Amino acid sequence: MKLPDLFFDRIAAQIGTDEARLLLKAIERPSPVSVRINPVKNNCISGNFQVPWCKYGYYLDERPVFTLDPDFHAGAYYVQEASSMVLWHILETIAPGGNISVLDLCAAPGGKSTLAAAWLSGKGMLVANEVVKTRANVLKYNILKEGHANVIITCVQPSELGRSGPTFDIVIVDAPCSGEGMFRKDPEAVSHWSVQNVETCAVRQKSIIADILPALKEGGFLIYSTCTYNHEENINNADYFASEFGMEGRHIPLDESWGISVIEGKKTTGYQFFPHRVRGEGFFVTVLQKTEVNGTKGFGSKPKTSGISTLPPKSMECLKPWLKNEGMVVFEGSDGLIHVIPEAMLTQVDSMFKAKVYMLGAGITAGKLTKDVFIPDHSLALSHSMSTLLPRVELDKTEALLYLKKQLNTIRSGTKGWTIASYNGNALGFLKNLGDRINNYLPNEYRILMDLPTDITAL
Ligand code: SAM
Repeated sequence: MKLPDLFFDRIAAQIGTDEARLLLKAIERPSPVSVRINPVKNNCISGNFQVPWCKYGYYLDERPVFTLDPDFHAGAYYVQEASSMVLWHILETIAPGGNISVLDLCAAPGGKSTLAAAWLSGKGMLVANEVVKTRANVLKYNILKEGHANVIITCVQPSELGRSGPTFDIVIVDAPCSGEGMFRKDPEAVSHWSVQNVETCAVRQKSIIADILPALKEGGFLIYSTCTYNHEENINNADYFASEFGMEGRHIPLDESWGISVIEGKKTTGYQFFPHRVRGEGFFVTVLQKTEVNGTKGFGSKPKTSGISTLPPKSMECLKPWLKNEGMVVFEGSDGLIHVIPEAMLTQVDSMFKAKVYMLGAGITAGKLTKDVFIPDHSLALSHSMSTLLPRVELDKTEALLYLKKQLNTIRSGTKGWTIASYNGNALGFLKNLGDRINNYLPNEYRILMDLPTDITAL
């Protein structure tokens, strides 16, 4: 891969010519493959080596065809680049216990959000936001597979979230950047690289942070990251946030053996992942704490009237067999669908409804209730909010892939009616067993598109 000479000159000026040569060599080597397993689902995927900074991260020896693994569709693991899994270590360090509110501002396709959701493990709340609608739909799918009810997905500009009222203990900004750290994984990134683009990105990042900081509580943490190397977008920007926005840089203790480079700025400390020093892609992260009061109210402020209307008792009766209800609020959204959120999140969700923040998802979408007939949603099947008493059919791998391809016609089960299609103990979706055939309720947009191999059993 031919990298721009100017890129080499700039990185050599930053880290020295010898280091820059090592970096270039590493960029020529294949990217490591890593996954983060979902601790609350069953897992068949196995890697021999753990990602040192993430409890649930593993390197795989080779890249399997993930599409042909039903566990992938069940949300049993997320394919995530290893360096960015350091978010786990950072969250453990700055907010042990984790019953907090987190905003992931630039969230699609969902690597950091699914990690944060797994780390919160149903406690507190996560708002995952993505400005680009098509990317927000991918985010929604990845969050849905994770299965937690304490997640809201929004699709708005940072300034709108900054203005809308709710404030968060932690704001993650994994900023759009010049992508120097992705040259190996995404050679396209090379063709978009220019010094002018680096400068444009650095300006955009400043503006994103300025827009979103009102949504960070006083004393709260900003986790700012990029997948690039240059100082303009990284440590210089971090120093700028500290001096311009009333923030203080925070140090994150790291194990030296991890190979992460520490970059000391004037007011902040940055952590840089170089592919020649770590088993991962190029990545930069820094943590700042908000020390200045900005007059924003916390999530605790209760709206006067509720925008959310909970369901009447008769409707709740219909839903009873489907849901685990403890500590949950069930309500009908403006989309006409039934949603389930933790009771503790009600105030926050309500205030977002009132502020008319555009939400793509709020908690688990349980389904649709029409004249006391309930049609469950795919989101419910993959969630931890679904009743464990619903009929299930355990599929073998061939059947599971045919189900996911929407080509499974019958099942080996006598129970008629709504049934969970399951593989390896993980729900894949709903089907309705009619005896001599089934109706497959996997949404079309989530079905496997690629051709299945002729001999699936050999997989
Ligand atoms: N955090 C994601 C993950 O771990 O999967 C990756 C995020 S990617 C580096 C940056 C995201 O920022 C993109 O999804 C992009 O659409 C979004 N973005 C682009 N311009 C933006 C802006 N002006 N404000 C907020 N987000 C923006």
